[in-house]
Amino acid sequence: MSKVHNYSAGPCILPQEVMKEAAASILNFNDLDLSLIEISHRSKDFIDVMEEARSLVKEILEIPNGYQVLFLQGGASLGFLTAAYNMMGANKTGGYLVTGAWAKKAAKEGGFVGNSKIIASSEDKNFNYIPKNYSLDNSLDYFHVTSNNTIFGTQLKSLPETNVPIVCDMSSDIFSKKVNISNYDLIYAGAQKNMGPAGTTLYIVKDSVLESNAVPIPTMLNLKTHVDKDSMFNTPPVFAIYTSMLTLRWLKKNGGIDWIEKLNQSKADLIYNEVDRNSLFTGTANVEDRSNMNATFDLTNQDVKTEFDQLLAENNISGLKGHRSVGGYRASMYNALPLESVEVLVNSMKELENKKG
Ligand SMILES: *Cc1c(COP(=O)(O)O)cnc(C)c1O
Repeated sequence: MSKVHNYSAGPCILPQEVMKEAAASILNFNDLDLSLIEISHRSKDFIDVMEEARSLVKEILEIPNGYQVLFLQGGASLGFLTAAYNMMGANKTGGYLVTGAWAKKAAKEGGFVGNSKIIASSEDKNFNYIPKNYSLDNSLDYFHVTSNNTIFGTQLKSLPETNVPIVCDMSSDIFSKKVNISNYDLIYAGAQKNMGPAGTTLYIVKDSVLESNAVPIPTMLNLKTHVDKDSMFNTPPVFAIYTSMLTLRWLKKNGGIDWIEKLNQSKADLIYNEVDRNSLFTGTANVEDRSNMNATFDLTNQDVKTEFDQLLAENNISGLKGHRSVGGYRASMYNALPLESVEVLVNSMKELENKKG
């Protein structure tokens, strides 16, 4: 295991064994004496990678029939626009739950394709909570939500009861817990938080979405283009997909979603219990909306900041600085972060208390 406790928010920690195998594939892939990144994406060796990656996604997330899995490019940021193009229907109106900076960006892209309607927003309190008690009318072509707000440390715990098709940006909590895929018409997620290196974006799309043609869709943004070509319409990001596939193999081997969900819950309980117990710290997000992936917190007294930062450095804790729009600290506890790393962080918080409390 790496000696550094890597709390980076994204790109972020990946399992060491995945990194080793990915590194080896750059020099010699499948004993071909060729690199993974110098063979044709149309070769059997790479097609097998793509097929295994897609089928592991289906298996691990228990995706029902009637959905397609794609590995595309452009990041979740292009997903904002891709989602709007593919979901826009006869009413040319998408609804958005604006729960953070990424959600706000998604809503902006919706406006390039049709009407982007903000249904509810938590910007009034710097996105420290998830709006509830809003209503959705059936004239919306889709309702866009962000399952986990990476920057602000809030997570969606439930979906509204609605007949409006739901689109979800799951970039920062996909594969972290059980999800009922059939609640969604479209899911997308950048790889670089729970799945692999930056460079590929996972799409899970319901077949019915592919039939809609309310607005003309540019070829590369049309999900049907990619479904028709088995996610190989153009050259896929081979290294990002291969490494994602290795991470999914790792997840499956260790026990899949049941295993990781419990582990992630233990990590989150550990950190939040300490944030709440230790009077030197305070949580940033509304308690009931707290994220199990990104825990945001701050010191109650900034006079001890230098001391705490020193303790973090001494204990090899990296990447804990909060996003500039929130300040304080953010512990990103993605799948590959071991429980031990959270124990080291919590012990550092206790150490500060012993010195200053
Ligand atoms: C990181 C992140 C994004 C941006 O992803 P890119 O791949 O950099 O475009 C979007 N949404 C959420 C929820 C994220 O965490």
